[in-house]
Amino acid sequence: MKTTTRVVVIGGGVVGCSVLYHLTKLGWSDVMLLERNELTSGSTWHAAGGFHTLNGDTNMAALQGYTIRLYKELEAITGMSCGLHHVGGVTLADNRDRMDMLVAERAKHRYMGLETEIVTPEEIAKIAPVTNTAGIIGGLYDPLDGHLDPSGTTHAYAKAARMGGATIETHCKVLETNQRPDGTWDVVTDKGTVHAEHVVNAAGLWAREVGAMAGVYFPLHPMEHQYIVTEDVPLILDMAKDGLEHPHVMDPAGESYLRQEGRGLCIGFYEQPCRPWAVDGTPWDFGHELLPDDFDKIEDSIAFAYRRFPALEKAGVKSVIHGPFTFAPDGNPLVGPVPGMRNYWSACAVMAGFSQGGGVGLMLAQWMIEGETERDTFAMDCARFGSWITPGYTRPKVIENYQKRFSVSYPNEELPAARPLRTTPMYDIFDAMGAVWGAQYGLEVPNYFAQDGEPRFETPSFRRSNAWQATAREVQAVRQAVGINEVQNFGKYRVTGANARAWLDRIMAGRVPAPGRLSLTPMLSEKGRLIGDFTISCLAEDQFTLTASYGAQAFHMRWFQRHAEAGVQVENISDRLTGFQIAGPLAKDVLAACTRDNVGALRFMDVARMTIGMVDCVVQRVSYTGDLGYEIYCDPMAQRALWQALWAAGQPMGMSPFGMRAMMSLRLDKFFGSWGREFSPDYTPAETGMDRFIAWKKPAHFIGRTAAEAERAQGPARQLVTFEVDAQDADVVAYEPIWMGEKVIGFCTSGGYSHHAGKSIAYGFVPSDQLRDDLQVEIEVLGQRLPARRITTALFDADGARMRG
Ligand SMILES: Cc1cc2nc3c(=O)[nH]c(=O)nc-3n(C[C@H](O)[C@H](O)[C@H](O)COP(=O)(O)OP(=O)(O)OC[C@H]3O[C@@H](n4cnc5c(N)ncnc54)[C@H](O)[C@@H]3O)c2cc1C
Repeated sequence: MKTTTRVVVIGGGVVGCSVLYHLTKLGWSDVMLLERNELTSGSTWHAAGGFHTLNGDTNMAALQGYTIRLYKELEAITGMSCGLHHVGGVTLADNRDRMDMLVAERAKHRYMGLETEIVTPEEIAKIAPVTNTAGIIGGLYDPLDGHLDPSGTTHAYAKAARMGGATIETHCKVLETNQRPDGTWDVVTDKGTVHAEHVVNAAGLWAREVGAMAGVYFPLHPMEHQYIVTEDVPLILDMAKDGLEHPHVMDPAGESYLRQEGRGLCIGFYEQPCRPWAVDGTPWDFGHELLPDDFDKIEDSIAFAYRRFPALEKAGVKSVIHGPFTFAPDGNPLVGPVPGMRNYWSACAVMAGFSQGGGVGLMLAQWMIEGETERDTFAMDCARFGSWITPGYTRPKVIENYQKRFSVSYPNEELPAARPLRTTPMYDIFDAMGAVWGAQYGLEVPNYFAQDGEPRFETPSFRRSNAWQATAREVQAVRQAVGINEVQNFGKYRVTGANARAWLDRIMAGRVPAPGRLSLTPMLSEKGRLIGDFTISCLAEDQFTLTASYGAQAFHMRWFQRHAEAGVQVENISDRLTGFQIAGPLAKDVLAACTRDNVGALRFMDVARMTIGMVDCVVQRVSYTGDLGYEIYCDPMAQRALWQALWAAGQPMGMSPFGMRAMMSLRLDKFFGSWGREFSPDYTPAETGMDRFIAWKKPAHFIGRTAAEAERAQGPARQLVTFEVDAQDADVVAYEPIWMGEKVIGFCTSGGYSHHAGKSIAYGFVPSDQLRDDLQVEIEVLGQRLPARRITTALFDADGARMRG
């Protein structure tokens, strides 16, 4: 066995083999895969082999599209068969919300180049005759759906990797992974030790155990899953005589997926009485075996399926496959460099290996070899969970995710499992004031405040929800008097040391402020993509605080650690610094009423230490509401005392608490973008207008400078603009297509309703050569093309007089 290699991939399931192949495809041939048994010895061998592109996250959907298109390439390279059946598939809708969701998906597919189409019940009866369409109101047809041979496909990946120079060692169990001081790894196996620069954990069902060997907790859990294969079915035999194969049918109401298998049918279920498997760890002796059949668990699902697919009832059961596979808390894979580790990579929790495995392999290989991925991978980045995550959180979330696999997912939905987990000292106070809670990165955050008689629950909807009145009220309070909410859900970092300023000048593209001042800056990747949108606050020449998205903490810390330098300390203080923001025309008066410090001396974008009530605070004069506002930071131990001071001073002035729904409405008035929506690694500074914050004249060669300058010289091909939309009861959420005549010219990044201006607003990208101030387009919202006009003047305080006043 080879004893040194550049990369050791642990695990020879479909994902490990895809990673290995993609490493060779992108140019690393000195790579090795270790498998404790034969290839496919985890979840892979018993998968139903179905694949589809449908995914709520557009980047995930694009990667699924890549995976599906890859199979033909694999067959061509290796001469092996993946057993492909490109039969197409239809997802059924039996109520308006499901139909809304499918129509919204179809709309996204328009600019993604996917040829899906909305079909009527009559068309479904023709396309998928096994379906009883009673109660069905429509569906989404995807010609790319299909199935394959899981084992053949995994072996095809393996052969293609070997052809590219990779080595595969089967019957070689990894026992330990030990890191040397230089960051390389000794991978100890039952056949000897392999010294590698990088380790990839692709151990599927055993990813938790393999992670523990390196001291890493991977938030994933195996779930039991069952599908049934029937004897021959007459309708399928008849179709076969005409050379036809039955397409896949996804029936969300019945939580089932169905396809042809041989001359019979195969149907699998995501049943509500589901069961987690191997709660305390996956046994090492679990191999090519199945779990005992369990018809009790799927009794209701089968009864439903008999009504939807009557042919099933008459068909005999040929075999039952009941096996485990893993999920992360949100059902997406865990991919990328593991935060806090050097040269340790994750390719785990891939619950749909045959839809996603190719994309996961490609993304990981790009990350390892090229330093970054070609698109925003945050939806599957293992850094989307923080160190707060525990097995006790993961398990109920994974169960929830399994149960909701086929549920409609709404843009405003808050999932209840494993909550509340993390709360601030304000939790009971806000709760008593009517807070309707949302969860962000494990933290409870008020979405809005219900008043007496209003429900304490926001109805999930694609349309305007029952939070409408409360949001309008809170927006009005901010614009007319003063509003208050927490600053807990900002990511916060302390950067200190003699080299802090020089380091920030290299890491951030924008200006690093002088003591007492703030600045806004994008953070760029080497390729000039947006990987952060920060406020820098300078308290002293060697002391800075950064604020950014709360959900991006592990993502940002991983980047800071990768670029660590002597003489600079970077600490994540997100949960060590809390406080409030107050905003509105009376914000200055509130602040002045509870401090003896000179509030009037604090100009827009200033920062200063002040004592507010009894509490020592750092006050930054800036507000994401676009209003006159202050962010007031303190020690969490003193947050309640700070609240008492601000609330007591604010109440006579009409102060009202406001939540995230109001905040997201207020930002629209000033065309402010938001992280993960307008600003993400999918976009660049020039495309989004963030280039106005780049300090082109600073001497520092900041990361991404070369790429940003090249883009500046050439001009971006597309640009982010704001539209006013003639919307009725549903506003833009994200990824709606932008039409010009009969052509889709762009897509939306986000939108919503400006309660201040009384207008429906959308942000979206359009080609630069189509950009005009009076641009008129149509934006497709829930299947309707709504007239929309570009707007270029902010809806509130366009000259900044109030914000700066
Ligand atoms: C009943 C069922 C039906 C399914 N149907 C579908 C479907 O239709 N479509 C779809 O896309 N997905 C389906 N799946 C899910 C699919 O099986 C998984 O997404 C996929 O197999 C995950 O592959 P993997 O490579 O990540 O993990 P695994 O297949 O679990 O592979 C991990 C490998 O790592 C090896 N390993 C672990 N520890 C070590 C060690 N210490 N040393 C060396 N080797 C080690 C294991 O032996 C194993 O071979 C289904 C799953 C089940 C259970």
